[in-house]
Amino acid sequence: MRGLAPDGGLYVPEAWPQIQPAAPNESYVDVATRILGAFAGDSLSAEDVRGLCERAYSTFSHHSVTPLSQSGPNTFVMELHHGPTLAFKDVAMQFIGQLYDLILTRRGERMSVVCATSGDTGGAAAAAFAGATSVDLYILHPHERVSPVQRLFMTTTGAPNIHNLAVDGDFDDCQALIKAMFADQSFSQEVRLSGVNSINWARIAAQAVYYATTQAAIGPDRPIRFIVPSGNMGDAFAGYVAARCGLLAGFELVCAVNENKTLATLLEDGVMQREQAVATPSPAMDISVPSNFERLFFEVSGREGDVVRRTYEQYRQSGSAILPDSVRGPLGCTGFSSKVINNGDTLAEMRQFKSETGALICPHTAVGTAALRRLAKTDATTVILSTAHAAKFPETVLEATGDDAGLPKRCSDLQKRGEVFQRVPNDLKQIKDHIRGQMTAEA
Ligand SMILES: *Cc1c(COP(=O)(O)O)cnc(C)c1O
Repeated sequence: MRGLAPDGGLYVPEAWPQIQPAAPNESYVDVATRILGAFAGDSLSAEDVRGLCERAYSTFSHHSVTPLSQSGPNTFVMELHHGPTLAFKDVAMQFIGQLYDLILTRRGERMSVVCATSGDTGGAAAAAFAGATSVDLYILHPHERVSPVQRLFMTTTGAPNIHNLAVDGDFDDCQALIKAMFADQSFSQEVRLSGVNSINWARIAAQAVYYATTQAAIGPDRPIRFIVPSGNMGDAFAGYVAARCGLLAGFELVCAVNENKTLATLLEDGVMQREQAVATPSPAMDISVPSNFERLFFEVSGREGDVVRRTYEQYRQSGSAILPDSVRGPLGCTGFSSKVINNGDTLAEMRQFKSETGALICPHTAVGTAALRRLAKTDATTVILSTAHAAKFPETVLEATGDDAGLPKRCSDLQKRGEVFQRVPNDLKQIKDHIRGQMTAEA
């Protein structure tokens, strides 16, 4: 629940539990219960974990939670967008919402959860925590810089414990405000601060589940090549976790990235290079530093924390660092690779996918399907992760295909739900006072 470790590092399990692969007849909740139970250790009973998973995944509109659809010969799309806010972040966030509420209620405690969002995370968090009795959620989004559909998913829950702050600034300003809140120890303790951004370990663990269920659906012994539209690399790292826990028949994973290609440079050249993020049609992947790479780095270094720390220190000081030779060799043998897709090719892919299959895909998913066209043929089955529903990015879908990506029926009233958000200046003190004020009002 702490998100970031006190020394600024990321949490990883002490050892990888070996978990029985999923069976084709096991339900999503059954598999999730086994995997998340293995990471919960003694802190939750098996019945607790099952209850959390049942409640979390009952909010999905498809009975298999993350179904596969065939898009070509030996090629499947894993649909991760059947949750309440139409993006894959719901899969982990719905679980996290249940987890926090259970633990805090038992402890008789209350927490202030904060998150900065450029779009999808805020909506997924709002849907997950709406109505939770022991959590106040504060979402900081850059005012007038998120898409209307993304904003509506955050601001229309109607729940009194969800506080939307529209900051006069950009996404980096929002993230800097959150970092500054955590750095202020006394404030952090006073309001019992917690974070749910993509470095939270529980999110990674929850995302390992759909890799396991997909392996079972494709066939327990059939090697799969996964193609994952990537930003912070949380989704892709979850695939690695599944492999390490014995849940996959092999491991081959292509990180498909947009013009923000730091992750590709890392995986292909072993070089960490700071670059300013540029705007693309796939905004959820506009990341300059893929934060979960640090976890993979730690693993391939043979868990030498000092090597990781030294390299990151150099990177922080100079804006670039070369991974040590002792790490680049093992990194090349992990099964990870990458493909970069530019903006024009992303839009062209949305058109081509539609003309070939009749289906509309979101621009993030298109980065994945475009990557497939540029990869060498293989005997392995290919599974592309579809990270959002086309309706979440209607402007881009219209531009690329001329089609109107209508919202699914279950959220077709989104435009009519009343919005609640408060505009705030880019000012740390005022935002802290706002959070304090909220706490006193409820006490
Ligand atoms: C967050 C997000 C991604 C990137 O996922 P990471 O885990 O950060 O790599 C890709 N597509 C969509 C739609 C997202 O919301």
